[in-house]
Amino acid sequence: MYIPLRMCAACRTHAPKAELIRIAAKDNIAVPDAAGKLPGRGVYVCKNADCIRLLEKKRIVGRQLKCEPSRELYKVMEDML
Ligand SMILES: [Zn+2]
Repeated sequence: MYIPLRMCAACRTHAPKAELIRIAAKDNIAVPDAAGKLPGRGVYVCKNADCIRLLEKKRIVGRQLKCEPSRELYKVMEDML
């Protein structure tokens, strides 16, 4: 069976979509897309705190999605772990 791989924007490891959290822009704010249903570009990150922190520290989300992450984005993602 074909398993689509996506790259974690923090550590650049490729992993199956199900093992990553997708972040997408909604009304110009980057939010976690738990259902994977938001249209447009997505940024993926591993389901681990190190990668989420790296994503925040390097401001990768804002750069890749060209919109501001919501203030709660990283906290919400850590709660999803
Ligand atoms: Zn990662």
